[in-house]
Amino acid sequence: MNLLVTGGAGYIGSHTCLELLKQNHNITVVDNLSNSSEESLRRVQQITGKKLSFYKVDLLDRDALNNVLQSQSKKIDAVIHFAGFKAVGESVQRPLWYYQNNVQSTLNLCEVMDANGVRNIIFSSSCTVYGNPDVVPVHEDLPLSGTNPYGRSKVMVEQVLNDIYQADNRWNIGLLRYFNPIGAHESGQIGEDPLGIPNNLLPYISQVAIGKLKQLTVFGGDYSTADGSCVRDYIHVVDLAVGHVKALEKLEENPGVVAYNLGTGQGYSVLEVIAAFEKVTGEKVPHIISGRRSGDAAECYGNPEKAKMELSWQAERSIEDMCRDTWRWQKANPNGYC
Ligand code: NAD
Ligand code: UDP
Repeated sequence: MNLLVTGGAGYIGSHTCLELLKQNHNITVVDNLSNSSEESLRRVQQITGKKLSFYKVDLLDRDALNNVLQSQSKKIDAVIHFAGFKAVGESVQRPLWYYQNNVQSTLNLCEVMDANGVRNIIFSSSCTVYGNPDVVPVHEDLPLSGTNPYGRSKVMVEQVLNDIYQADNRWNIGLLRYFNPIGAHESGQIGEDPLGIPNNLLPYISQVAIGKLKQLTVFGGDYSTADGSCVRDYIHVVDLAVGHVKALEKLEENPGVVAYNLGTGQGYSVLEVIAAFEKVTGEKVPHIISGRRSGDAAECYGNPEKAKMELSWQAERSIEDMCRDTWRWQKANPNGYC
């Protein structure tokens, strides 16, 4: 297929481009590089021995985006839409910035797609659309509720995409609700490269292990979980990338709007993740347990059965694989792509 991948230079996008190239899809990436480097795409091409096209374009620039679609020698069959901002805390500080970049840019994208007769899209949604769930594992039919501007931007985009389909059922829309992506490609050449001090658990742990940060703060030890720390559904980024390949195949069946949880269905606590990381790497992760981080749910993990049944997809990599691959990437690239 001829695919447009927005945000393809980023963490999940680059791993997905790699899996798509392996399946011989033709890829055009648009990314404004606001949170990534073109080096990731250079490495994806090096690993696969295959080429992709790259345009440095901001999705807020509708004309530039339109030019990319118009300049294709073969019509784009589908879009995979990763581009957006993703830091919860920052979204609380700068809500307008987040709504612009996550919602307005998606409106632009959909308008340009429609104008060019492209009506197949896979959207990077998130388990954050379930808010603070009362019951776990969460399943796709639960009501959606964002608890911060980032989460609400995901809920809004899901609603917009549903409305677009209601108005014109030629569209096919895959809403992929990711749980907690971690890990890196087994080559150790591409991985997560956060700007500054990481917000997320695994990049923080690996920067502590390599000595860039002094110690990890575990946010909360008094939750009603087995060991008192929060539980999440961590998923290897390569499993997640493969999920996109499967979702694309699903869109070829003209399914309308479909939503899938992409997770393992298995929750691990923060302390369990630290223990797994220490075990597979042999490195110590000094940590202290502090108060809770505002807005954190005690437990969130998903039921991935729908994706298994309808996409023939399930996560295959273990928490140990996730930690080992994160560490391989961190050791080989202590300063990320710089
Ligand atoms: P990332 O920041 O590594 O990748 C996003 C990419 O989009 C970056 O390369 C960035 O430069 C680009 N981008 C941002 N705004 C843009 C714009 N206006 N125009 C063009 N390019 C733009 O993030 P990621 O972890 O790869 O996440 C990808 C998607 O998955 C995001 O939509 C994110 O919200 C969603 N998601 C991520 C996680 C996670 O934990 N990483 C979990 C659930 C959902
Ligand atoms: N966490 C932590 N210390 C950190 C970063 C994260 O204890 O420095 C915990 C956080 O409270 C949550 C889990 O690790 O329970 C995963 O957090 P992350 O920010 O990676 O993802 P989230 O689940 O919030 O999307």
